[in-house]
Amino acid sequence: MSSRNDVKTIIGGAEFIDEGARILKEGGLVAFPTETVYGLGADAFNPQAVKDIFTAKGRPQDNPLIVHFASVEDVKMAVKEIPPVAYKLWERFSPGPLTLVLPKNDKLPLITTAGIQTVGIRIPNHPIALELIKKSGTGIAAPSANTSGRVSPTRAIDVYEDMVGKIPLILDGGQTDVGIESTVLDLTKDIPIVLRPGGVTIEMLTEVLDKVINHKGEVIVAESPGMKYKHYAPTCPCVGARAPSSAFAEYCKHDNGVIVGRNSFIKALPSDVTVASLGESPAECMRNIFSLLRDLEKKYDYIIIEDFSSEAEYFALYNRLKKTTGNVIV
Ligand code: AMP
Ligand code: MG
Repeated sequence: MSSRNDVKTIIGGAEFIDEGARILKEGGLVAFPTETVYGLGADAFNPQAVKDIFTAKGRPQDNPLIVHFASVEDVKMAVKEIPPVAYKLWERFSPGPLTLVLPKNDKLPLITTAGIQTVGIRIPNHPIALELIKKSGTGIAAPSANTSGRVSPTRAIDVYEDMVGKIPLILDGGQTDVGIESTVLDLTKDIPIVLRPGGVTIEMLTEVLDKVINHKGEVIVAESPGMKYKHYAPTCPCVGARAPSSAFAEYCKHDNGVIVGRNSFIKALPSDVTVASLGESPAECMRNIFSLLRDLEKKYDYIIIEDFSSEAEYFALYNRLKKTTGNVIV
């Protein structure tokens, strides 16, 4: 058991990185800054050093540690295989606050992963962390550098409060940038699952992934490029209408509205309704649609457009109008 005065704890800046790397190689513990929070590091491949992390933190043995590397190339030291999607995510978010859970290899001791066959991997975006990891020449297992259950440390002095007398060195990199822990994303299932939300948001992940399950268990499907931005939208409210009857009902609810559609659609409306024609053929409708919307938005306060979703020849038009109406169909 360690008492407060077992080890002399020093706080030092970047000039102590070499010393930190030496301690890690010899199986000791070093606290260091990352962009999320401060980590309590040990050589991930040294079971005794990893055990000392659990002891220093009072961390339950069933809570796996994240292993930190300085480059994507080095990740191979700890994992069995790297799926293409991991490379895509790293290309976009590494170094950064994203931890990927991947199948571990046999070289990585089970104590590091709390007995499970997967490992959380992260490449932190902090110059001191990256240099320390590079110089140590190994993967660094590092949970947050607080006593288990306490608030995560975002300054060297916070680490000191919890770790004084327990570890020899705290590298000081000032206050951390992100301030909360990394996003943990499990890539070992069919659809990637967010196990812990963090610095990289779901929206950011769907820039790379087609589908992701959020930490509440909901499947989030990525929109195709550009879909998430407002497009083709008039300056006044605009909805789609499946039939002349529903268009008319909607029209009656609003002041100064207009119904837009093909001649055949418009013909089915009562004669006193304000209407605008797109023409009839697909080519005609496509030619007219944008100029017509620009003219109508200046004159009217509510636009109701014929919905083309069920007609194959009008698919390109429907594709634009879906965004115009925000896919609201009456
Ligand atoms: P901390 O070290 O306090 O930042 O916590 C690390 C987080 O990552 C914990 O919530 C762990 O449960 C999670 N984690 C680490 N490795 C794995 C893994 N192999 N599988 C699932 N979750 C993991
Ligand atoms: Mg923690």
